[in-house]
Amino acid sequence: MFDYRCPSDDDFDTRLRAEAFSWLTNKMRRGPEYLAYSEIQKFIFDGRPVPLKDRVKGIWKPAILSSALSITTTYRPPGVERPYDDLIHKSDGLLRYKWNGMKRDEATNRALRSAMEEGVPLIWFFAVGKGVFKPVFPVYAVAEEEEAQQFIVNADASHVAAQIEAEQPGSMSKNQKVKVRNELFSAVFRGTVMRAYRSRCAVCSFRHGPMLEATKIIKEIDHGAGAAVTNGIALCVFHRSALEVGALGIQPDLVVQVRPALMREDGGPMLRYGLQELHGKRISVPSVRAERPRQDLLERAFERFRQAD
Ligand SMILES: [Zn+2]
Repeated sequence: MFDYRCPSDDDFDTRLRAEAFSWLTNKMRRGPEYLAYSEIQKFIFDGRPVPLKDRVKGIWKPAILSSALSITTTYRPPGVERPYDDLIHKSDGLLRYKWNGMKRDEATNRALRSAMEEGVPLIWFFAVGKGVFKPVFPVYAVAEEEEAQQFIVNADASHVAAQIEAEQPGSMSKNQKVKVRNELFSAVFRGTVMRAYRSRCAVCSFRHGPMLEATKIIKEIDHGAGAAVTNGIALCVFHRSALEVGALGIQPDLVVQVRPALMREDGGPMLRYGLQELHGKRISVPSVRAERPRQDLLERAFERFRQAD
C-alpha cells in the first residue's frame, strides 16, 4: 500500500512531519482545545491517509516512515494515578517517556530510538479526556535512560539546549527545564479544563475560546500534568481577573460572592451585568462529579477572599 515512498528521499520524512504539524496547527486554530482519536486519523499526505497516532500503542511509527512520528500519554480520571506523573525526574525537571513494554528492542522502542538518533520532531498526544487529545509539538527524544527504561523528551525551542544537556550534563539551566515542563503542562491543563467545562466560563457561560482561560483555584499548587482539573476552573478573561484581584470569590458551595464594596458601587454595564447581577448565582461545573473543583481547594481560596476584605 505504501510503496510510493522513495527510500532515498530524505525530504519525504521532513515534508510529512512539517505537513502534519501545520495540519494540526490549523485544526487547533479553528477552535477545539483537543482532538478526538477519529479526527487525528484524518490526516492526508500526498493524497493518502497517514494516521498520526495508534489506537493502542503509545509510540507510533507509520509504515512509511523509518522512525516514530508520535507518542501518546493516556488519560486517567481524577483520583487515578496518572501514568505521566512519573515522567518527571524530580531532580532535573526533564520529561520522561516510558518504553512500550519492558523490551529494549521492541519495534516501537526502536522507532523512538531512531527518532532520537535522527533528531526528528515528534508529536506528543496528551489525553485530556477519554479519547480526546491535546497535541503538543514539536517535541524531541533527546536521550535514553536504559536502566529506567525511558527516553528523555523535550519540547520545542529548548530541544537544542536539551541535546547539549544530554552530552554535557549540567549545561542546561534549571530555569530552561522548568520552562519546558511548564509550557507543556499548561497546554495539557488548559485542554483538560476546557474539555471538562465545555469551553465555557463557569461564572457567566461566555464561550468564546480565545477569551477563556484555564484558571487554577489555588495558584501555587503544582500538579505536574496530573489531575489538575479539580484545581482548575474555566473562566473568561474578565472573571479570571475579577477572581484574581478578589473582586469576586467562589464559596465552597459554588455560589458567587461579589465584594460588598463593589455591590454598592454605581458603574457601567460590566459592573452591573458582569459582577453585581452574578452575586449569589451558582457557577457551572463539569457534569462528571470527579472533575468538579475540590472542596478543600475551594475552601482555601474562599478563606483568602474573605480575609482580604
Ligand atoms: Zn465570565
